[in-house]
Amino acid sequence: MIIGWGGPGRGVGASARVGAVADNGDVSLYRDEGIVLRTQKLGEADRIITVLTRAHGRIRVVGKGVRRTSSRFGARLEPFMHVDLQLATGRTLDVVTQVETLDPFGRTICADYGSYTAGTAVLETAERLTAEEREPALQHYLLLLGALRALAHGEHDAGLVLDAFVLRGLSIAGFAPSFAECARCAADGPHRLFSVQAGGMVCTACRPPGTVVPSPEAVALLSALLTGDWPVADASDARARRDASGITAAFLQWHLERGLRSLQFVERRGDEQAESVARGTRGGGGVREEPSATSEVERLYREIGDAEVEQA
Ligand SMILES: [Zn+2]
Repeated sequence: MIIGWGGPGRGVGASARVGAVADNGDVSLYRDEGIVLRTQKLGEADRIITVLTRAHGRIRVVGKGVRRTSSRFGARLEPFMHVDLQLATGRTLDVVTQVETLDPFGRTICADYGSYTAGTAVLETAERLTAEEREPALQHYLLLLGALRALAHGEHDAGLVLDAFVLRGLSIAGFAPSFAECARCAADGPHRLFSVQAGGMVCTACRPPGTVVPSPEAVALLSALLTGDWPVADASDARARRDASGITAAFLQWHLERGLRSLQFVERRGDEQAESVARGTRGGGGVREEPSATSEVERLYREIGDAEVEQA
């Protein structure tokens, strides 16, 4: 039996059979730790589980029999759970053979509505920012681990944790917003105008159409969330949080719709979602969306109300 990190046996042009053994008859096993992002039903009792792993990036694996009440590890393979996995390489999807719980984040996060809604948006954002399966994404993984730990332990306001996760996740993806110097010409700040398209604060000379004027408190909060300055973030008031959240949402939506797609980072599923968002924002005349087409991130941010930011 081969024990190793993603050893041989991943066939090309494989059959649709899930969890088949390698051609030589040996099952190739490997271990990794990860965080469960999402689960989908598969057949009678199985699930496809989307996991962001430490070493293998985002992967989809099969949990056999996990929907049976007698399943030994069904509850460990729920969203938010931080687990150590042993996986058997399959022809199409790898199969979970062992699960150990490292942190049962789901238990505490799901017990609090604010943490749950923010956490759900965090998981979805993590999936959309790691568009390529099996592309190592250690920084995204560590960021997600930190965010879920903060939510589970109630370390900070759940909305602040979500916004910090989004801003820092976009930075890891190569879209760091600029909250001090001008995002266009790098002139020293502070500047009063914010432009989603330009990528942050802009000077009056660079001012593109559609800028907003966030309060200095909101800009200070955004900067603190991006850099992880929690004493400043925790001390912010409700108005600054609302404005910062609206700007963060607009920034994320901009990149999910245009930036990520234009760089071809977005796989098919993300693309469809981005298009459904684009159709939705154009309003009227579009195809009527099923409720499932509205992502948790967009719904949550709509709830927060990104219209709160004063128009310049
Ligand atoms: Zn400028």
